[in-house]
Order: sequence, then structure tokens, then C-alpha cells
Amino acid sequence: MIRRFFMRTAARLQSFMYGRYILFGGFDKFSLLLFILGLAASFFGSLFGRGLPAILLAALSLLMYFYLIFRLFSKNISARRRENELFLSVLRKIKSPFTLFKNRIKDRKTHIYRKCPHCKAVLRLPKKKGKNSVICPRCRERFYVKSIFR
Ligand SMILES: [Zn+2]
Repeated sequence: MIRRFFMRTAARLQSFMYGRYILFGGFDKFSLLLFILGLAASFFGSLFGRGLPAILLAALSLLMYFYLIFRLFSKNISARRRENELFLSVLRKIKSPFTLFKNRIKDRKTHIYRKCPHCKAVLRLPKKKGKNSVICPRCRERFYVKSIFR
């Protein structure tokens, strides 16, 4: 009797979980962001006591968690993956000036970074003394780079 109950519950759970995003790596970076934002909102909300900011932050926190749960149990895997990709591309855009700065420092002895005067792409060029001609790999225009140092 009890055994049958458990078997049936397990089977129901299994069919409920079938095809849900959580089984396809659903706890992705975007889910993590929602989780952290939800946690942060409820934490900061608790600092405000009972006023309007506390209510707004509590609502925001709930919203984050609802959306997180919605994502994890969603069956539309491709839409959830697109969401995550979109989030990652926004994140890359935010991070790119920092990454560029970090790389510039890292290979300052071997490479220089120059902006293409035609298409404004930032190019990483091997360091060579004197005036060197460069063909931009993006727009195929030629320009010159002067370097005093080797
Ligand atoms: Zn260019």
C-alpha cells in the first residue's frame, strides 16, 4: 500500500520533471544572476524595516525567485537558452573594456593595441620598431603604425 503510493508519486514526479529546463543545465548563469539578485533584494529589504522600500525590495525579490522557478521548470528549452545567451552577450559587452585593459597590460612587451582609423576596430599588433603598414583584418583598409620602442 505505502510502497504503491511511493511508486506512484515517483512516477508522477518523473513525468512532471520530463523535459524541464532544470534537467538540461537549467541552473545557468542567468539563473544564478536571478538567484543572487533575489537574495540581495531580500537582504537589503530587511535593512529597511517596514517602509515602502522594504516592500518594493521584497516584491522584487519574489519576482526574481518566481522567474527563476519559472525558468527551471520551463519546457521551452530553446527560449531559456536564448535568454541565457542574451544575458551572456550583455555581460561580455560590459566586461570588454576591462578585458581589453587587462590584455593590454598583460602583453605590453610583445604587442601594441591600435584603433583602426577607418572602422574603429581595436587591433592587437605585434610590436615592431619604426613605421609599419597594417591592413585591418576587419575592413581591409591600410594604415600606418609608428612605434618608437621595440
Ligand atoms: Zn578597419
